Amino acid sequence: MELEIQEIWRREKLYRFDAESDRPKFSIDTPPPYASGRWHVAAAMHYAEIDMIARTMRMRGYEVYFPWGIDRNGLPVEVETEKRHGIKMFEYPREEFIELCRRFLDDAEEDITRIAVRLGLSADFENVFRTDSELWRTVTQATFIRAWERGLIYEDYRPNNYCPRCRTTLADAEIEYKELKSLLVYVKFGVEGEDSHVVVATTRPELLPACACVIYNPKDERYKWLRGRRVITPLGKAVPVMEHPYADPGFGTGLVMVCSYGDRADVQLFHELDLEPTIVVDEEGRMNEAAGKYAGMTMEEAREAIVRDLREQGLVVRVEEIMHRTPVCWRCKTPIEIVPMREYYMKQMEFLKEIREMALKQMRFHPDWSVQYLLDWISGIDTDWPISRRRYYATEIPIWYCRSCGRPVLPPPGRYYRPWAEDPPFEECPHCGSREGFVGEERVFDTWFDSSISPLVYNGYMWDERLYSSLGGPSDLRPQGKDIVRTWLYYTLLRVYHETGGPAFRHVWISGMGLDERGRAMHKSLGNVIYPWPLLQRYGADAIRFAGAAEAHHGSDFRISVARIEGAFKFLQKVWNVARFVSSFPYPEEAPRLTPTDLWILGEFNETVRSAARGYEDFDFFVPATASRRFVWDVFAPHYIELCKGRAYGEGGSEEQRAAWWTLHTVLRGVLRLLAPIVPHITDFLWRKLYDGSVHRETLPEPVAEWDTEYLELGRKVMEFNSTVWKIKKERGLPLSSSISIEIPEELSPFREDLIRLHRIRQ
Ligand SMILES: [Zn+2]
Ligand SMILES: [Zn+2]
Repeated sequence: MELEIQEIWRREKLYRFDAESDRPKFSIDTPPPYASGRWHVAAAMHYAEIDMIARTMRMRGYEVYFPWGIDRNGLPVEVETEKRHGIKMFEYPREEFIELCRRFLDDAEEDITRIAVRLGLSADFENVFRTDSELWRTVTQATFIRAWERGLIYEDYRPNNYCPRCRTTLADAEIEYKELKSLLVYVKFGVEGEDSHVVVATTRPELLPACACVIYNPKDERYKWLRGRRVITPLGKAVPVMEHPYADPGFGTGLVMVCSYGDRADVQLFHELDLEPTIVVDEEGRMNEAAGKYAGMTMEEAREAIVRDLREQGLVVRVEEIMHRTPVCWRCKTPIEIVPMREYYMKQMEFLKEIREMALKQMRFHPDWSVQYLLDWISGIDTDWPISRRRYYATEIPIWYCRSCGRPVLPPPGRYYRPWAEDPPFEECPHCGSREGFVGEERVFDTWFDSSISPLVYNGYMWDERLYSSLGGPSDLRPQGKDIVRTWLYYTLLRVYHETGGPAFRHVWISGMGLDERGRAMHKSLGNVIYPWPLLQRYGADAIRFAGAAEAHHGSDFRISVARIEGAFKFLQKVWNVARFVSSFPYPEEAPRLTPTDLWILGEFNETVRSAARGYEDFDFFVPATASRRFVWDVFAPHYIELCKGRAYGEGGSEEQRAAWWTLHTVLRGVLRLLAPIVPHITDFLWRKLYDGSVHRETLPEPVAEWDTEYLELGRKVMEFNSTVWKIKKERGLPLSSSISIEIPEELSPFREDLIRLHRIRQ
């Protein structure tokens, strides 16, 4: 059924965006899924909800631009490619490595898109955007060149997070923290001019060659006597002892060695204490000549070698195993080093206030409290954004350097440049006039530098000005997970602000994480990953979509289990059965005179529509999903349908019969429209069978004033009365169809005829 209906959508081009349409436009900044692995069911549900936004806006009268893009740049795909082929990127020819990445990406992209299509996403799969396409990379480079011209880019040599495995600088946003086991080594330091020693505990003995001083806490009385003196490191270097509150008297011995650089705190300490750094790590994460006999070793090898040497010399007092909160590379989980490098930076420090203001005043967050994720991240930013990376599969930094004066020269924006592989589009150096030639830049951009311009690229910026102006600028809504607020959301706000001076979107929709049924994240290592494809085949897309929507309010984490999807499937079966029942009666063209029972259910439906509308307005699909389910499952099917059945089959006058028919169809049409954004297949299938056209060309139902009557309250008492009668029959062991003698309460007399027929009440 679902595949059949999808084929019809494709044939009719039902969701095609028409830039010339005079409806108001609404554009979605679809998160381009990262093509580096298989989707979990949580990702499928996330994208299904984004599709619900698109469908909601269409049914609210908007012409919706819902592009489909795939993120194909950067570290994750390189790491996966290295794993898959058992190779190391740096030992492989650049062009060939890029080709391997591309093949891997094509496979992963196909898998993801296949699931997205099967889920019934109404995105434009015919015009796929790819972040590694010439179009996207051209815009990435053009925005860089423009930012350069406006002085927003600079190069600097400074200590940075560095992944020795990936051999690249990482921004703070790309660092994760892990509790890792490490060894705390207690090492003897001599005291200069004395025959005594002190003990310093360190987790980084390999940095001893880079030790510049030893500190203790000013409140720590044990070490006051060391003030102003020097101690001798086990490698024979005399270093000063200083007071600094950073030293924790409770950690190790209370004496801390300050090295260039164990962590970010060391960078700060070197700066504050005005120390001269000795760099002992090279760009490959190995010890360099400054490390003396340990040169050439990896950090780990050096650690072992130094500890071994110190033990032999009797300088190790003891070794403890501790858990240490360690910063690791977001992609390969290798502990990062702090290594100074020359990198390009994009300015952000001086714009943080504007971005914060923009987020608070010009954007609406869904849910509104989720803006806090962004504010928290912004308040912790303390350096500009390092944007250059020493990797291959990413957009090249479009710079050539003059062979004569060494200064950088940028090409004009407007085409895709690969400086490491091609000649520059100019011959003369604008700085020195030399025609000696140029050397191409080999570095590439941080992958977020590309993905952070998605609201511009999607909407035609720099490649289709007509589309861009028809959409009124960058995207209207950014949907995304809370896990990438500090990267994708923040960087997009920064980049679009630099480029246009305005906000990147008006709405930001932040969703929680999909967890397993016990509330844990899904991980291969936990064995709790649920893949969507088998579920799609077994239960269909609508069941997965409904289960995702009905699980939790938007923004909260939500639990996923096969049982919950099965529950959603049962609800959809209920909808199906209700529709089949209703379809056995004609749909009268004109509204007949309605009975109190009819007015009651229409009033109930009004209430459902009102509460669902609040959810749709805020893109919180939990609200319409659960409101519709309650209405169909607890009210319409068990009570109204049972009450009106007799009339519908003709027990009663023909006017009353037609009233039942009309009400059944009117409510069903309303329910189908109400559920259409959430479960687009079954609703459209039934709509097309029973009525005209597609439900997706209809509008969301709205409350009808004449349906708000006093029967709403009375109807609720009718439901109570029904339940009482059913309970009595059950207690007496009577079938529901058996007759019974029971008093109908006076106030329910408007429903008298229907009640008598339903319960076979003896007069
Ligand atoms: Zn790494
Ligand atoms: Zn020059």
